[in-house]
Amino acid sequence: MALRFFNTLSRSLEEFVPLNPAGPVGLYCCGPTIHDFAHIGNFRTFVFADLVRRALEFKGLAVRHVMNITDVEDKIIRRVAEAKTSLREFTSKYEAAFFEDFQALGCLRPHLTPRATEHIAEIIDLIDKLEKRGIAYRAPDGSVYFSIEKYQAAGRRYGQLLKLNFEEMRRGERVSNDEYAKESVADFALWKARVAPDGGVFWPSPWGEGRPGWHIECSAMSMKLLGQSFDIHMGGEDLIFPHHEDEIAQSEGAGGQAEGRPFVKYWLHGAHLLVEGMKMSKSLGNYFTVRDLLAKGFTGREIRYLLLQAHYRESFNFTLEGLKAAREALNRLDECLRKLREACGGAAGAPQSDLIDKFSAALDDDFNVSAIWGSVFEWVRESNRLLASQQMPPERAASGLAAWEKIGGALGFAAANDEQAPPELLALLDERQAARRAKDFKRSDAIRDDLKAKGWAIEDTAKGPRLKRV
Ligand SMILES: [Zn+2]
Repeated sequence: MALRFFNTLSRSLEEFVPLNPAGPVGLYCCGPTIHDFAHIGNFRTFVFADLVRRALEFKGLAVRHVMNITDVEDKIIRRVAEAKTSLREFTSKYEAAFFEDFQALGCLRPHLTPRATEHIAEIIDLIDKLEKRGIAYRAPDGSVYFSIEKYQAAGRRYGQLLKLNFEEMRRGERVSNDEYAKESVADFALWKARVAPDGGVFWPSPWGEGRPGWHIECSAMSMKLLGQSFDIHMGGEDLIFPHHEDEIAQSEGAGGQAEGRPFVKYWLHGAHLLVEGMKMSKSLGNYFTVRDLLAKGFTGREIRYLLLQAHYRESFNFTLEGLKAAREALNRLDECLRKLREACGGAAGAPQSDLIDKFSAALDDDFNVSAIWGSVFEWVRESNRLLASQQMPPERAASGLAAWEKIGGALGFAAANDEQAPPELLALLDERQAARRAKDFKRSDAIRDDLKAKGWAIEDTAKGPRLKRV
């Protein structure tokens, strides 16, 4: 069976057939807007994109994964002005924090992470093309807009991803954006003329000083790095309209695609995340960044596990209770892996094929994570049963572990990632051993309690004591 997933463009499950069989799969995911620490809802999308990339690689495909960094945008400019700092100084702090969180969740860094501010020339080129084709127009204030009417008059369809009455939907947006210079309420800004509150954030352009609109950034960077037509574009479902719809209009409006080829072949969207049963909000106290959760003592691995519990097209209720359950489930898995390693005793084995087949079939079924975890924990139960009754042959332990190496790798939970205690805690464990040898039991007990308070228990094994998550 081949990989199948839900293409928002056709609103149906489709088999994945790469545009270019010889080349890498082009995968673009809209990245963070770096004006603050990203919250857990943002990371649901990024963890899902990471899963898609790993799944494609598991299937033997080479992938070119691009995630943009939106480092110029209304909120950023406001915050830069408030903080009385420079754009780069302001954004670099949040960009670094973003990648720390990204790594804590076990996400592979995309191959390319272009910044919008480093692609102003490409953005201007694209707007220029649209203007030459009569689809973009200059407004009296020096801004440039995309004309949906002209786009449609050129035989293109606006509203490919979502059937919508966009005239209605944009009415509120126009008022909030004060974009009164537009010819039609549905039009959107490609280039925003410099205004006083922008401070020092502006670039020269053929239309005067200003800055790019948000939508054009993604069109320009994705086509530059992945070509005029590429395979997969991802993002949260809130980006379907207007962001992704506008990306299609801009990219196809510029007309660089070969005859009959779309800008993007497959659009994949992840659903919303609820937190503690509600839409996340700072006033409700259910607004969590990754670092908030790490400070509560949870690990990135536990957060990732919880984010990968629900199917990407279903909204999911993320709770602190759920994180505790995630910890228990991962402990069960890690405990089993540890015992299997002991039972394996250096034996080797090919990856257990029924486990690999089930995993592969579940991926093919629109990334069916419930089926994936179901079969992983069925294997854990069966392994525990055989281990408990001393019926686990070393070869079977080895082939189970070899299968997990592949499956865990594709999920971002490789066996090699079994949670290791951080070095400072391992140093404490050594100190406790030294205290015991010196018969300083008061000190050794104090260290044990300290470790326990940090969420780790000391477990005695044949190879000496080790730290285990409680
Ligand atoms: Zn985007």
